[in-house]
Amino acid sequence: MRLVLVGPPGAGKGTQAARLADTYGIPAISTGDIFRANVKGETELGREAQGYMSRGALVPDEVTNAMVRDRLLHEDVAAGFLLDGYPRNPDQAVELDGMLADNGTALNAVVEITADSDEVTTRLLKRAEIEGRADDTEDVIRKRLAVYAESTAPVTAYYEGQGLLVRVDGIGEVDEVTDRLVDALRAR
Ligand code: ADP
Repeated sequence: MRLVLVGPPGAGKGTQAARLADTYGIPAISTGDIFRANVKGETELGREAQGYMSRGALVPDEVTNAMVRDRLLHEDVAAGFLLDGYPRNPDQAVELDGMLADNGTALNAVVEITADSDEVTTRLLKRAEIEGRADDTEDVIRKRLAVYAESTAPVTAYYEGQGLLVRVDGIGEVDEVTDRLVDALRAR
């Protein structure tokens, strides 16, 4: 199972990614988590990414694409993977298609978790109190939502054109949303 999860910041991608990965026995690969781990570990990659992340901007494609290409060479993706947070613009989507074609594979489905921006802003501000993530301030959240609308939303159209897109409502209890996701994927 090779899946991509798309959705606005705060839609619950991370939570649902972990559950889907568990259900299908595949690794969840979050580009945001990889970047954060590198910032924390003060690596070269972390130093490159940090400024963009703290502003809520996308890390440049060359950096992100190379990181994902490298991650997809690991042995644990043989049975599949779930990408969370990548691709985040149409150029990354084209790049991912190329990486998979090079391996003779392709995506099975792209799941979009939908949630309106008032709901996600409320969730992110609440998360800021609990987790203290550096980019969960009101200004940066607004910027991340704007980047989503401008750069990432077109990615769903790209996959819709390929007949891969599955849309799932992200509003409701966590379990309820997981059930919707699994049902929607089974129905394909
Ligand atoms: P969220 O979806 O809640 O905004 P993520 O954890 O997915 O958070 O990403 C956090 C930050 O990491 C992004 O705002 C961006 O700076 C960087 N990032 C993550 N994935 C990508 C990507 N595919 N391309 C460019 N930058 C990325």
